[in-house]
This record gives sequence, C-alpha cells and structure tokens, in this order.
Amino acid sequence: MYCENCGTKLKKDSKICYNCGKEKNKTNYYIDEKSLPEKYKPISILGYIAYDIVFAIPIIGWILIFIFSFGKEENVNVRNWARSRIFSLIVLIILYLIIFYK
Ligand SMILES: [Zn+2]
Repeated sequence: MYCENCGTKLKKDSKICYNCGKEKNKTNYYIDEKSLPEKYKPISILGYIAYDIVFAIPIIGWILIFIFSFGKEENVNVRNWARSRIFSLIVLIILYLIIFYK
C-alpha cells in the first residue's frame, strides 16, 4: 500500500500517511487478485480449458454442468460459466429441433 499523495510506502493498518499526513482513500482501495475470497476468485486460462474439456464429455459433462450451475459450487465465476454453457446447450437443442423436425 502506497500513499496516493506522496508515494510513501505505508503499513497495511495505517490510516494516515506518516510522511505527508494525507488520509488513505478508502473508495480507491485496491484488492489483489490473489487475496480475493474463494467465492470471487477468477478462473485461470488453464481452468477454462479444463472445464471445457470436462463439458465436452457426453452425459458426464452435462451432469457436472448442472451440478456446477445449481449445486453447492462456491465460486461465482465457475457457476456463471456453467450456466452460460447450459444456455448455449438449450439454444443448440432448439436450433436442432427447428432444423431437423420441421
Ligand atoms: Zn503521503
């Protein structure tokens, strides 16, 4: 954490810069990606690839997608990813039905 005014390195718990006396601006508080709670941690690139591979497995992948979407999944990013996949799946099924069962 650095002072916005003079750039002095500050201790984590200090509320005022000891060099220039400026108060720490709480609205500009920056949270490091790694210090985010488990619930909001982003999915890594490899993570997305792994989830896509799992999703590509017929039946098992689809069951897992439903578990990630509506089960106990903690991470909001994984949950939203899974729900977007269900949406895509529904659109594909509808398109398939329209095209082949007209
Ligand atoms: Zn300062």
